[in-house]
Amino acid sequence: MALISLIAYLFLVLVSLPTSSSICGEIFSQCITAQSSYYTRISDQTIHTSNSTLYSTILQSSQQNPRWLNSTSKPLLIVTPLKESEIQAAVLCSRKLGLQVRVRSGGHDYEGLSYLCKTPFVLIDLINLRSVKVNVADQTAWVQSGATLGELYYSIAKKSEVLGFPAGFCPTVGIGGHFSGGGLGTLMRKHGLPADNVMLTMT
Ligand SMILES: Cc1cc2nc3c(=O)[nH]c(=O)nc-3n(C[C@H](O)[C@H](O)[C@H](O)COP(=O)(O)OP(=O)(O)OC[C@H]3O[C@@H](n4cnc5c(N)ncnc54)[C@H](O)[C@@H]3O)c2cc1C
Repeated sequence: MALISLIAYLFLVLVSLPTSSSICGEIFSQCITAQSSYYTRISDQTIHTSNSTLYSTILQSSQQNPRWLNSTSKPLLIVTPLKESEIQAAVLCSRKLGLQVRVRSGGHDYEGLSYLCKTPFVLIDLINLRSVKVNVADQTAWVQSGATLGELYYSIAKKSEVLGFPAGFCPTVGIGGHFSGGGLGTLMRKHGLPADNVMLTMT
C-alpha cells in the first residue's frame, strides 16, 4: 500500500514539475519531514519555491555571470541548509523525487554549472554554511564550503600576522568550487594550490 501511494506521488510530481514549484516544494518538505528520524527537520525558511519572497534574491545573490540572469533554466527549489545533515536530507529527497541536484558555494562558475541544469533540479546553496575556525597554535583551520576566500583570509589575518593560506585573488570566490576546481594565487609558487594544503574533508 505504501508503495502504491509513493508511485502516485511521484507521478503527480513528474507531471507538474516544469510549472508547479510550490507543489514540488510541498512534496519535498513532506519528504524531508519523513527523513526527520534520521536527519534533522528542515525548516520552511530553508526551502524556497519560486513563489517564495527570497527565491530570486538568493538565486541571483552570488551569480557572477550576468549572461545567465534571465535564463529559463531555474531551480524548482532552492535549499539553503543550516547544517550538514540538512544537505544529506536535501540530496536524498531530490533523488527520491527524481530531481537533479546542483551545489553552489560562491557562484563564481562562469558557465553557471552550480545553478543551471537542462532537467528539473534542486539548487543546494551553501550560503549559510560559511564558518571559519582558525587554530593558530597548530596552524590549521576548519572552513565551511560556503565561505568566501575573503572571509578565510580575513579570519586568518585577524588571528595572526604571519599565517596565510595559498588560494586565489578574488575575495568573493567560494571555498567549495575554488578548492575543488581552481586555486591559482600569489602564494602558489611556494605553497602550491589549496588542494595541496587541505588535510581533511567532511562530506
Ligand atoms: C571574479 C572571479 C575571480 C576568480 N579568481 C580566481 C583566482 O584568482 N584563482 C583561481 O584559481 N580561480 C579564480 N576564479 C575561478 C574560480 O576559482 C572557479 O570558478 C571556482 O570553481 C569558483 O568557485 P565557487 O564556489 O565560487 O563557484 P560555484 O559556482 O559555487 O561552484 C563551482 C563548481 O563547483 C561545484 N561546487 C561548489 N561547491 C561545492 C561543494 N561544496 N561540493 C561539491 N561541488 C561544489 C559547483 O557545483 C560548480 O560545479 C575566479 C572566478 C571569478 C568569477
